[in-house]
Amino acid sequence: MTKALEELIAAVGDGSRLPVAEMFYTVQGEGAHTGRAAYFVRLGGCDVRCPWCDARYTWEGADAPLTDVTAVAEQAAASGAPAVVITGGEPTLFPLGPLTEALAARGLEVWMETSGTHRPLGRIDWICLSPKRHRPPLGEMCRMADELKVVIGVPEDLDWAEACAGQVGSGCLLFLQPEWGRRAEAMELIVAYVKAHPRWRISLQTHKYMNIP
Ligand code: SF4
Repeated sequence: MTKALEELIAAVGDGSRLPVAEMFYTVQGEGAHTGRAAYFVRLGGCDVRCPWCDARYTWEGADAPLTDVTAVAEQAAASGAPAVVITGGEPTLFPLGPLTEALAARGLEVWMETSGTHRPLGRIDWICLSPKRHRPPLGEMCRMADELKVVIGVPEDLDWAEACAGQVGSGCLLFLQPEWGRRAEAMELIVAYVKAHPRWRISLQTHKYMNIP
């Protein structure tokens, strides 16, 4: 973890203010809730550093001002969204209790996207675990996941997906998602794999096809 990130975590403290990189109302493009309207809260700060990351600007938390979580919840509720996706960055770096309580108090469902490298502290209704091979998730996070979404770029990623599936609970939904930069080759792999192993489903980054954030 970099010094800048350590300082950011210290500045966050109890989570009554969080580093918010961006907030917007859109449609969830990936995974189990694909196609559903949701308000996104993207937090700054990530120590996972995936080579394919399309949110590198969030890694150090630069341009993610500490923002009062009550104001975040009020903006989310005012949007008319039924649910809020807390994403990053890696949102489990921070205590999420104050934000998730403020969202729940306004009747909003709370969904989270995480690589599972830290345990989330907060009231989360739906955990989408997107584990990374170079930074395996905590076993506890695997057991808590409602949805496992593994990015596939090369054949070895399918072995990794199965290893992760062996750690999640029996009710967890299983998704394979092509790595965007290798989507043509990855799609071939995934389609063949899902036909042979039908407990898996395919997740596409449909927001990129719809040209929405
Ligand atoms: Fe990027 Fe997410 Fe990986 Fe962090 S965990 S480096 S935000 S893809």
